[in-house]
Amino acid sequence: VEDELMRAQRLESLALLAAGLSHDLRNILQPLLIVPDLIRDRSDDPKVVRLADVIAECGRRGHEMVESMLSFVRGSRLPSERIVLQRLFQAVGMLLKSSLPGNIDLHLDVRDERMAVEGNYTELQQVLLNLALNAIQAMPDGGRLSLVAERVATTDGERLCIRVQDQGIGMDETTLERLFSPFFTTKASGTGLGLVSCKRIVESLDGTISVSSRLGEGTCFNLLLPLHGAVAEPEVGDRPVVPAGRG
Ligand code: ADP
Repeated sequence: VEDELMRAQRLESLALLAAGLSHDLRNILQPLLIVPDLIRDRSDDPKVVRLADVIAECGRRGHEMVESMLSFVRGSRLPSERIVLQRLFQAVGMLLKSSLPGNIDLHLDVRDERMAVEGNYTELQQVLLNLALNAIQAMPDGGRLSLVAERVATTDGERLCIRVQDQGIGMDETTLERLFSPFFTTKASGTGLGLVSCKRIVESLDGTISVSSRLGEGTCFNLLLPLHGAVAEPEVGDRPVVPAGRG
């Protein structure tokens, strides 16, 4: 009982901390929501406009993460929408490319442009970015990072499969056993929370996350998610994202 009380108290202070943080972060992020438009108005240089797009996407993400932290604290659910994989991959590609080490060869492939899932866009984007950044950190000497989305047949019917594969250092047995435990990290400045949050988000979408890895050869994370509107038309419009191009 004492343990539970302690836990409840700790959770309550965490909630207060998160609420305070969200409030401050909202203000800090404000310029990121306005400045990109000012930059676009003042420049015709496509490189500058592209950088403004990256800042805008980071601002949007930061803003939604703050909102998501707030709704977590309040215990409310995040808004759910139809996420078109093609568009999600374009945004992820743009963000990754803005700070990609030169020795990493990025490969993005959405096998069918009509594929969509239902969930919170920013959360699913966060999952892919977490996995991709881990993959990049696992390849200090460079290599190929590939993100592939395709339909697969399972015993539960057709599902969406997203694979995030690297040619990095791989993982030993201990790491493979513990990588989804909170605070488990092998990095000097790691938090050990990235994969915990990936798993929580994927499972909230009725999906699964699994991993296969070989020491010295590389790692592949596999997400299986329910497909949304399997034969839906490609969507036009509402979420502006700059085409990231391929490779
Ligand atoms: P962090 O990145 O802060 O350590 P994570 O929860 O994202 O936290 O990852 C936990 C651990 O899992 C990492 O410290 C690392 O040992 C291992 N790991 C995750 N992704 C990979 C990968 N692609 N290749 C090798 N090891 C990985």
